[in-house]
Amino acid sequence: MSMRLTIVGCAGSTAGPESPASCYLLEAEDDEGRMWRVIMDLGSGAIGPLQRYCDPARVDGVLVSHGHPDHCADLGALSVLRRYGPARDEGLPLIPLLGPPGLDRRVEEVAGDPDGSDMDVYDYRPLAHGDEARIGPFVIEAARARHPVPALAYLVTVGDSRLMFTGDTDRCDEVDALAARASIILGEAGWAHREVNPEGVHMNGDQLGRMAAEAGVEALIVTHIASWMDPHPTLAAVRRHVPLACLAKPGHVHGF
Ligand SMILES: [Zn+2]
Ligand SMILES: [Zn+2]
Repeated sequence: MSMRLTIVGCAGSTAGPESPASCYLLEAEDDEGRMWRVIMDLGSGAIGPLQRYCDPARVDGVLVSHGHPDHCADLGALSVLRRYGPARDEGLPLIPLLGPPGLDRRVEEVAGDPDGSDMDVYDYRPLAHGDEARIGPFVIEAARARHPVPALAYLVTVGDSRLMFTGDTDRCDEVDALAARASIILGEAGWAHREVNPEGVHMNGDQLGRMAAEAGVEALIVTHIASWMDPHPTLAAVRRHVPLACLAKPGHVHGF
């Protein structure tokens, strides 16, 4: 078994002119040949181009790294699609929504609806460090990330394919331990725009490259570079450690 990763959006901090904020589509077949689709993050602007790659109303789950708008703002938009779009009367099952504690409150705050109806389409399952969840063929493990709000990094396994998604995080032991078990890292390098950056928020290209090299991964996809930045200096910093690292680009499909 293997999985397919489609980069829907990779811009860091805000949506950019060429890409929405954080959003990735994972697809894998189970033993019966049924295709399963899980979204990782649903950041600002992602619900638009996501419709090029799948019917968002029918996804089998949404995995969210944390409650910053560039990672979860369009959860409300997906809810609107489910409740008012073409599939509204089909009796589709609730969408499993996996993420750190408090994500339900964030969705309701964005909607501003006192009834909290945006959460009605979701089966919310808060995850903590060390938790494991399954959606079809996807085995999902969560690790505490180092970010100003509760945040998780994920290891998603299908057969022999082990994809780590860092979410937003500075380097820390928990994230390093997850990286050590990954074969592919989809890793953030959000700190590029200043020479000296606060601790506990993001990695820069040098830190991400070191982490992936120490983990000995087969592939590294660099993402979450701020929407206003030229990504190439960051890629160059990453490649000093992992020469084959590539940049996440909207529409690109990676199979592994
Ligand atoms: Zn972010
Ligand atoms: Zn963040």
